[in-house]
Amino acid sequence: MSTLSGKTALVTGASRGIGRASALALAGAGAQVLVHYGRAANEAEAVVSEIRKAGGRAEALAADLAAPDAPHKLARDVRAIVGERLDILVANAGISKAAKIEDTTLEDFDRLFAVNVRAPFFLVQQLLPILGQGGSVIFVSSVVARAVVGQLYAYAATKGAIDTLVKYFAAALGERGIRINAVAPGVVDTDMSNFTKTEAGRNAALGMQALKRIAGPNDIAGVVAFLASDEARWITGDTIRVDGGSKL
Ligand code: NAD
Repeated sequence: MSTLSGKTALVTGASRGIGRASALALAGAGAQVLVHYGRAANEAEAVVSEIRKAGGRAEALAADLAAPDAPHKLARDVRAIVGERLDILVANAGISKAAKIEDTTLEDFDRLFAVNVRAPFFLVQQLLPILGQGGSVIFVSSVVARAVVGQLYAYAATKGAIDTLVKYFAAALGERGIRINAVAPGVVDTDMSNFTKTEAGRNAALGMQALKRIAGPNDIAGVVAFLASDEARWITGDTIRVDGGSKL
């Protein structure tokens, strides 16, 4: 399958987890992929090698998305590699933290919003000049934006903000031929997920889903690649649940 051949893609947080799987899926479909990472240069280079070994094109790009100037820097680095055309942005990088209302600190709250909301907002802003007709932006939201799960107050609010941005960006950018969507995973077995680390957590996750297994990053990446492709040309402004039929 080479539905994305000739296309260029940036995937943030692509050194591991859902981002890594998305980068590999986009490259597998023929796209040139810019593999963004925060600190894990080795892991990002391993993703780049894997893509190149399979005959694809990839480069690794670093930026700490908690830093206010990171989107500007990353967009500048992207342009230095792909020139004046980026077709696909997967704004995947994110952090999570659970805390009681009384225990939530200003620092944690600000960091969650900086990485999960501010960075993707300004990344879209900075990349707009090179996201042209047929461009596809895919955010990674979460089902917790619309359901109460434990003490994820601030994290869930960042994902609610993403769902709102999807609608506003889609309305604003449709006339330029740019589609904006999000995937909203349920529990996925990655470093981030607490649910998948204990038997009790896994059982709780399975109890919430119609499909009785724990999702892996590839279960999400296929939908990301679909949204990036022309097959999804009539989908914009939507957050698509990819959650194995979660009851949440
Ligand atoms: P993960 O922790 O494996 O990956 C997170 C990625 O974001 C990593 O590559 C990390 O380096 C990057 N990142 C974090 N902070 C960064 C920073 N300051 N600068 C640059 N990069 C940074 O977790 P994951 O599950 O693959 O998470 C990917 C996305 O999926 C996140 O947006 C997360 O909120 C979302 N999500 C995950 C789940 C789940 O159950 N795992 C469910 C719903 C949504």
